[in-house]
Parts: sequence; C-alpha cells; structure tokens
Amino acid sequence: MGKRGLLIVVSAPSGCGKGTILEQVMKKQEFYYSISATTRKPRPGEKDKVNYFFLTKEKFEELINSGQMLEHAEFVGNYYGTPAAPVEEHLAAGTDVILEIEVQGAMQVKKKCPEAVLVFILPPSVDTLRHRLNKRSTESEEVIEERIAKAHDEIARAVDYDYVIVNDDLDEAINDFMTVLAAEKMSVKRSGNVINEVLEK
Ligand code: 5GP
Repeated sequence: MGKRGLLIVVSAPSGCGKGTILEQVMKKQEFYYSISATTRKPRPGEKDKVNYFFLTKEKFEELINSGQMLEHAEFVGNYYGTPAAPVEEHLAAGTDVILEIEVQGAMQVKKKCPEAVLVFILPPSVDTLRHRLNKRSTESEEVIEERIAKAHDEIARAVDYDYVIVNDDLDEAINDFMTVLAAEKMSVKRSGNVINEVLEK
C-alpha cells in the first residue's frame, strides 16, 4: 500500500496573504484543496461548488448531525465546515490535502487527526495587518477595527499550531511553506516503510 497523503491545515487572519501564498504553493506541487461548506452568502464572483458549497442552515445542520463533517465552526455569524469524505478519499489515495480553515476548526482536526500538520500564517505585525486591510478594503473603520480585534484573538491561538510562517516577503513565505512540507515528508513518523525497505535490501 502507498503512503497516505499529508493533511495540512492552514489558518491566518484575513489580510495575511494566505490566499496568495497557497495559490503559489499549489502551482509548485499537487494538492487536493478542500472545498468547504458554508451558510454565508456568496460574494460577487464566487461560485457554488468552486469556492464553497453554499448551503442553507438546515442543510448544514443535517450534514453535521449525520457525521459528514470532519470539523465545523461558527465564524462571525455563519457556519463553515469541511466535508469529510473527499478529504479521506484523497489522503487514502496518497494525495496531500490542504484545509484552509479558522482556528476552532483547526483544533478539531488536530484532535481527530493527530497526524495533521498545522501551519499558521502571521502578518509581520498587527500594524501591518491594519495597513493592508485599510488599503484593500472599502469597509468602514469600525469593521476594520473589528477584524483587527478578531485577528488579535486568532494570532494568540497560533501557539497551538506546529509551524508559524511570517508573511513579510511573499517569496520567502512560499519558500518557508515548501520547506515545512518537505521536512514533514522526511519525518521519522512518516518514514517507517522507507527504513524497513533499506534494512531489507
Ligand atoms: P470567508 O468568509 O472570508 O471566506 O472565511 C472566513 C473564515 O472561515 C476564514 O478564516 C476561513 O479560513 C474560514 N473557513 C473557510 N472554510 C472553513 C471550514 O471549512 N471550516 C472552518 N472551521 N473554517 C473555515
């Protein structure tokens, strides 16, 4: 039997450049990027079954109750969750899987799947985050401050992750991410077969 894929959980407050990093990483290596379910409304340009499975609250609760979610959380008034089946299928087939989820969900995955690798992407400082959010956003100052407060709480939870990557320079952050994956693939806990194969030759 081949090796199971690596389960990689990535979290970051909004404005940390998580999306850009993952986009570039996925150009370098093949992954299954898990499509989450959510009860929030699609934003302009977002497509059902591509960006998210956009579900009603009733349908979402049905999936939770029938045990079809690997994890789920409520985040600023909406449900978000990871459908379990596609993740398991890809891992079993040896494909690495990326879950881009917030901290409560990440902690559930850590409990259920102790072999998961948890990566937290940090901004260089809260001030940089404020600056980035101000620059890209059309939102009011109040909403931005709310996001900063939320980011503050989330960043404090990074201590429960396996790796932190500071996104100061994009290329460096991408490189750091690839280094984490390479190191994880060489870890002794994933190399049992390799050791035995060498011994048997
Ligand atoms: P957004 O509404 O901006 O797309 O996402 C809001 C937050 O929900 C982000 O931090 C994102 O990573 C997180 N998120 C997206 N999908 C999931 C999921 O399946 N489970 C959990 N727990 N969080 C998710």
